[in-house]
Formats: sequence, structure tokens, C-alpha cells
Amino acid sequence: MEENCIFCKIARGDIPSATLYEDEEFRVILDLGPASKGHALILPKKHAANLFELPDETAAKALVVAKRIAGQLKGGLHADGLNLVQNNGAAAGQTVEHFHIHLIPRYQDDTVNVKWQPGELSDADKEEILKLFR
Ligand code: AMP
Ligand code: ZN
Repeated sequence: MEENCIFCKIARGDIPSATLYEDEEFRVILDLGPASKGHALILPKKHAANLFELPDETAAKALVVAKRIAGQLKGGLHADGLNLVQNNGAAAGQTVEHFHIHLIPRYQDDTVNVKWQPGELSDADKEEILKLFR
């Protein structure tokens, strides 16, 4: 628990939230500023600021929770699709520094925007990046 972390307080139940699911390690809540109907957030109860700080075991379990809740949201709300979004760092759009996964149900012709302009993979970039993983 981090002092002053709003998602720690919500995950622990100190601040009330619209909770869809809870177990020992996670709480899944409705986002207060939904991108679409059913926009939910998966919050681990143990504080990790972002993906880089998240323990492997929590990371693995988070995707299992995501899969289950995604299915329930999509089926129950008759969504046409669903995005998982997970932001790390202000540059990536993270505004709350407690790891969370967005579940964003998608509806044909909705106005949600998770798109980018495709660039081009240069040979120089490709070589530089591949070298990191050799
Ligand atoms: P991110 O930009 O990935 O850090 O996402 C933070 C998300 O948390 C945003 O979609 C906010 O709408 C949402 N949010 C912030 N405060 C609360 C809160 N108290 N309860 C529910 N959702 C919140
Ligand atoms: Zn926290």
C-alpha cells in the first residue's frame, strides 16, 4: 500500500467503487470516466506503479482475470469487440501510477480512439532493436 495512491485505496476497499469482481489479489471496477459502456479497470491489490514493477505471478493472473471479465462484459453488453489497454508512464498516457488494465468494450461505429498512424520500419531501427534481443 502506497500512501496517497488512490487505486491502492480503491483496491483495498477504503474508497467505495463500482466493483464487478474481487478476489484476494485483484479488484475490477468500472472506470469513472468511461470511454465506452462497460469500461472497466483491473487493479491488483498490491501496489506496483506500472508493468515494469509488476511481479510475474501477478502479471500472469491479471490476464486470466482480464479474459474472464472481458467475456462477461462482451456477452452481457452485446459488445462487438473489446480492447485491452495498459498504459505505462506519462508519455504513454498513464495518469494513475498504480498498474491497471483497461477493459474497453467496443461497439460498431463507436467513437473510442485507440488508433495510431502506421509508420515504416526502417532497416536501421530494425537492426538496432534486433541487436537488443540477440
Ligand atoms: P490511465 O490513463 O491509464 O492511468 O487510466 C486511469 C483511468 O482511471 C482513467 O480512465 C480514469 O477515468 C480512471 N479513474 C481515475 N480515478 C478513478 C476513480 N476514482 N474511480 C474509477 N476510475 C478512475
Ligand atoms: Zn497503489
